[in-house]
Amino acid sequence: MKPAPFLYFAPRSAQEAVALLAEHGEDGRVLAGGQSLMPLMNLRMARPAALIDINRASDLSYIRRDGDWIAVGTMTRQADAEHDPLVHEHCPLLAQAISFMGHTTIRNRGTVGGSIAHADSCAELPTVAMALGAEMVVAGVAGDRTCTADEFFIDSLYTVIEPGEMLREVRFPVMARDERFSFVESGVRRADLAVAGIAARLTLDDAHVCRAITLVALGGGARPIRLLSVEAALLGNRPDAATLAELCEAARDDIDPTDDLQASAEYRREILVSLTHRALTNALSQEARR
Ligand SMILES: Cc1cc2nc3c(=O)[nH]c(=O)nc-3n(C[C@H](O)[C@H](O)[C@H](O)COP(=O)(O)OP(=O)(O)OC[C@H]3O[C@@H](n4cnc5c(N)ncnc54)[C@H](O)[C@@H]3O)c2cc1C
Repeated sequence: MKPAPFLYFAPRSAQEAVALLAEHGEDGRVLAGGQSLMPLMNLRMARPAALIDINRASDLSYIRRDGDWIAVGTMTRQADAEHDPLVHEHCPLLAQAISFMGHTTIRNRGTVGGSIAHADSCAELPTVAMALGAEMVVAGVAGDRTCTADEFFIDSLYTVIEPGEMLREVRFPVMARDERFSFVESGVRRADLAVAGIAARLTLDDAHVCRAITLVALGGGARPIRLLSVEAALLGNRPDAATLAELCEAARDDIDPTDDLQASAEYRREILVSLTHRALTNALSQEARR
């Protein structure tokens, strides 16, 4: 239960961190909150030759409004984002989803960028980043490049980040005041990684017709998956309790879950249909913020 030997660096800024990552290439690895990386290193499932610890890079920890975006520095602790007034006001779905992540002690150490860069297929933050249409700012020695959440997540534990690069900032669009939203999940034990979950956001007009909808599944595949069939079934319709359960069955067409130690693919398929129904019921019964 001890990691393999490694070189340790503690840069004081994003620029220093990127220079070190460029120098060490494939051998370098970012250390953020350490809540996923340290267990992997202790089990020797990860053996980075050089750890670039960004905890002292003070320019990587912030939450600020930037036009129509809430910009979150990669080193921002999950707990800080969960309780931040700007996040509550402008991205309440994000605050709701973070509250499901592990225990308070994990969220006190774990970072927003660390969870997104780690890209676990059962993590809440990648799912909510997809649902909100977040953008990721990836830094390298040549400068920054920005990509959408949809482009960023490639597979379970794989993203577009190349050796020598790091995630610098995550940008969440400000949610419209009249959006309704819900994040729901199911797991074996509270605070463990979820088995399945749904992030939902939608807008109804005055006649209660659905004018915009985004539904993203956690645990529906190797990365967060949009439930495009359910979205299409609801868009332009006035969903009511009688037809909602039937419409949610369309989720089966969108997902491709896998078996693992926590749950079978078949169980995930069933639970995701029922979580879709629960998330939509919650969102539809919510008073729109005006
Ligand atoms: C008991 C327990 C329960 C947990 N429960 C949950 C849960 O319910 N839901 C959930 O989502 N997570 C859960 N986690 C994981 C936790 O949320 C981690 O904090 C998160 O996965 C990783 O964030 P971190 O800041 O700790 O990153 P680290 O562990 O430091 O890094 C994780 C990986 O991301 C890379 N990385 C980190 N930051 C960057 C960056 N800026 N640029 C490029 N690469 C980077 C690292 O190199 C490493 O490969 C749990 C962890 C524990 C120990």
